[in-house]
Amino acid sequence: MLQKTSHFMREANLIDGEWIQADSGATIDVINPATSLKIGTVPRSGRAETLRAIEAADAAFRTWRKTSALERSKLLRALHDAIMDNQQPLAELLTTEQGKSLTESKGEIAISAAYVLWFAEEARRTYGQVVPSPWRDRRILVTREPTGVVAAITPWNFPSSMLSRKIGPALAAGCTAVIKPASQTPYSGIAWGVLCEEVGFPKGVVNVVTGSAGEIGDEICANPLVKKITFTGSTEVGKLLIAKAASTVKKVSMELGGNAPFIVFDDADIDRAVEGAIIAKYRNSGQTCVCTNRFFAQEGIYDEFVEKLAAASKGLKVGPGLEEGTQQGPLIDDKAVEKVEELISDAVAKGGKVVTGGRRHALGGSFFEPTVIAGAKPEMRFMKEEIFGPVAPVFRFKTEEEAIALANDTEFGLASYFYTSDLGRTMRVMEGLKYGMVGVNEGLITTVEAPFGGVKESGLGREGGHQGIDDYLDTKYVCIGGLGV
Ligand code: NAP
Repeated sequence: MLQKTSHFMREANLIDGEWIQADSGATIDVINPATSLKIGTVPRSGRAETLRAIEAADAAFRTWRKTSALERSKLLRALHDAIMDNQQPLAELLTTEQGKSLTESKGEIAISAAYVLWFAEEARRTYGQVVPSPWRDRRILVTREPTGVVAAITPWNFPSSMLSRKIGPALAAGCTAVIKPASQTPYSGIAWGVLCEEVGFPKGVVNVVTGSAGEIGDEICANPLVKKITFTGSTEVGKLLIAKAASTVKKVSMELGGNAPFIVFDDADIDRAVEGAIIAKYRNSGQTCVCTNRFFAQEGIYDEFVEKLAAASKGLKVGPGLEEGTQQGPLIDDKAVEKVEELISDAVAKGGKVVTGGRRHALGGSFFEPTVIAGAKPEMRFMKEEIFGPVAPVFRFKTEEEAIALANDTEFGLASYFYTSDLGRTMRVMEGLKYGMVGVNEGLITTVEAPFGGVKESGLGREGGHQGIDDYLDTKYVCIGGLGV
């Protein structure tokens, strides 16, 4: 097991360039979900420490905002290199606190670095405009300026990459940051502080605070020095933050919950659909916001799809993330397992059939068997609730219209997937799905070049793509008059 030997496993908060403990000395235990053993502790900071972090970020902003785009770009490139130079230890740390397989953790660290590199490049392209003037003696300029102090709050399922999509554009735009990582996976967030310090970001530009979510959140929302909140997590907490941020009219970006449909039409390549289904369902043990929550298979291929999906699910190797060959690690904690068990019981009581899995894994702890449930029906809780676990309920449908209606019958609108070989259907279904992202004959679609985000209650704003930096910039209109004619 990884011990406190990791260079990045700092049991402290970074505020104004100093590594500190909570004022009260209180700490939070961090647990390895694969062993249920304590890995270490982090400070249980609260409002006072958060206030100091915000003030440090505000002081740093005054000079950081004046750095040139090229200077910021170079530092971000150095940060990218530092992340990749340390991919292995950062991935080991991530797996140890989060549980996912080492292969997935290495992938997450690589995509974190890729986001940083992308925004290092975008830093140099935040163009303004010269607008044709209606007046002969005046000129109209539109400039884009960094928004200011940004607070970034992130979840436990992607503790590194969720920060990269926030810190990358914030620093590129010339903003400074206060980071609040999830309490169950704080070290990967703290590692961003270590890395930023080591590559030479000035003190106060990046601050990291761990601890009481309510207290830290309240200070962030109430403090007028914070100009923007960027949050990834549950819709419930997202709504709370939007409401609280209203008191100081902050900008908000929200990456919230999902309820992804995965539709397989009769004309699809079934083997390809099964391959995509495995990635879209079981990545991170089913604990991703873009994981398939509901499979819809058309009646002509229903039985074949269920059979092949069940066989592929059964073949997944479940084990501790650090063990060679592991494809599915444990769930984050016992509460997550209980939720999965409840949803399966609900389905079985309503006539669903467990085709494979359905139980806690023989390894014990929070390991769970990859599960496929046939005969899923709209009245089952799967239809509305995020499973966040390795369970694949498969619904049967007849027509294209019915599939679209079922897929859209949710308050969420993050990722969606469908498989077909018909071009006309591709266009109709793609246009009919009320989602921020659509994968057509693809089960894994996230990439730094594309705008990631949702509609409806799945969120506000986009991360990645050229759109990803927009939320960190304010638009300023300048009218220069008295120029003569
Ligand atoms: P969560 O409970 O909402 O927590 C997310 C973060 O918010 C954590 O850092 C948490 O801190 C903090 N938090 C909790 N209550 C708060 C409050 N009152 N004020 C301020 N911060 C508060 O979500 P989660 O269970 O960690 O993550 C799973 C959810 O995230 C799922 O719904 C998933 O779909 C969503 N997600 C969405 C995306 C996306 O891009 N759309 C990506 C990944 C995950 P503590 O850890 O200290 O409680």
